[in-house]
Amino acid sequence: MENVLETLVLADYEIVFRMDGRTGEYRKILAKPAVGSLYPDSGILGDEACLKYMASVYPKDRILLRTEMSPERLAETAKTGHRKIVSYRRRDPGGRLLYRKAVIVPVPDRTGFVCAIHDTTEEMRLRRENDRNLRMKDEGIRFIVENMCENFIIADTETHECTTYTNREGNISCKSRFDEQIDWFAENMVVPEERAYYRRYFDIDTLTGRIAEEGICRMTCSVIYKNDRRTFAITATLIDDPGKNEKPPFLFLCAQDITSIKRMKETNQLLLFHNQHDKLTGLLNRAAAEKRIREQLYAGSGKAGNTFILIDIDRFKHINDRYGHLTGDEVLRLMGESMRKVFRDKDILCRWGGDEFVVFVSGFADEKVMKSRLNILREKTGTFPDQANFPGITLSIGCVCVHREITLNRLFLLADEALYEVKNHGRDGISFKSLP
Ligand code: GH3
Ligand code: MG
Repeated sequence: MENVLETLVLADYEIVFRMDGRTGEYRKILAKPAVGSLYPDSGILGDEACLKYMASVYPKDRILLRTEMSPERLAETAKTGHRKIVSYRRRDPGGRLLYRKAVIVPVPDRTGFVCAIHDTTEEMRLRRENDRNLRMKDEGIRFIVENMCENFIIADTETHECTTYTNREGNISCKSRFDEQIDWFAENMVVPEERAYYRRYFDIDTLTGRIAEEGICRMTCSVIYKNDRRTFAITATLIDDPGKNEKPPFLFLCAQDITSIKRMKETNQLLLFHNQHDKLTGLLNRAAAEKRIREQLYAGSGKAGNTFILIDIDRFKHINDRYGHLTGDEVLRLMGESMRKVFRDKDILCRWGGDEFVVFVSGFADEKVMKSRLNILREKTGTFPDQANFPGITLSIGCVCVHREITLNRLFLLADEALYEVKNHGRDGISFKSLP
């Protein structure tokens, strides 16, 4: 039985002493074999062996240990009848830091104490490592938040408790419950017209259900942030606690300020538009139209047919000379407007250059329909600009309807030939060429 008790005690403690409260005498009762001569077998507190041991204790902890082991303190412990724990650090002869925990228990007859010493070095190392890992994770998240997003929320989907990491400049108030945090964002950051949708979207059960079905979810919302109306993209995902798969997952949210990206995209789109369109008429310019026509010619088989129309204003030089360049410009602008009205959005409408225009209709090549559309265009141009003494303008048009594969260069040549037939026959008309 004694052996069993000894084994049990030594599983936790490396050495157990019995101490006399009055005389300060101590005597080893149990010790792990490996402990060897580390501790003296017996003596009086403060004797040479005791001082030698104390010398190896970390200086700060030495004072603590001495105070706690003083007869006065021990007497106090004896009075309370409770045990006392003193943690301290010491160095081994190689200089390695060791952690110890001394448990001092008054014996029931109050004549002394049992002092058991536990080696907590490994325990402390693991705790330090865990603390370090946690600190590193925390630092990692802080780095992400400060450099890549405005805030980052981790919420427990079961308890709804949450932790918010914020970019300090943003002055975001951190709440401990997810719904309170969402309410705070809605009230203090989200623009009034989007608040109701924002609250509905971030209902934790709805959102976790959506992520479970669709995977990572992303939404954008407008917020008032840093005294400016800005756009935030909020990404949400679920993450399992590693090793605890039976536990419900955590909800991760990260809000990114995408205002500058959005503004850059808008500027790029504007630049692209200007790069592809003619300033005066708003129609496509020649380079952009050629690219799109070629793309459509390559994409289709040609069987459904395509129509290529070349339009030239008659005696435009004369309009410029007689009425001035500004009137000429107005005629060109009105020409663009009328073309947009007569043809469909998906048709390619282009100012080819000067007073020459091109229309490309993909997948359609009916001469009769084209003729009626072009006549409507001629009617419109016959009346503008609405200016006294201005007779209106006439157009010469070459129209090619093809039902086979063909290149853009060939289409243009055919349309040009058709157009010059009209010019040669006194202008103001349409000439058709069909390639079955
Ligand atoms: P035709 O009936 O044979 O076509 O005679 P035309 O006078 O129209 O001859 P042409 O088509 O060769 O002349 C085009 C003119 O368009 C020449 C140029 O001065 C004028 N022009 C080209 N670009 C512009 C522009 O942006 N604005 C104005 N106002 N005129 C332009
Ligand atoms: Mg002309």
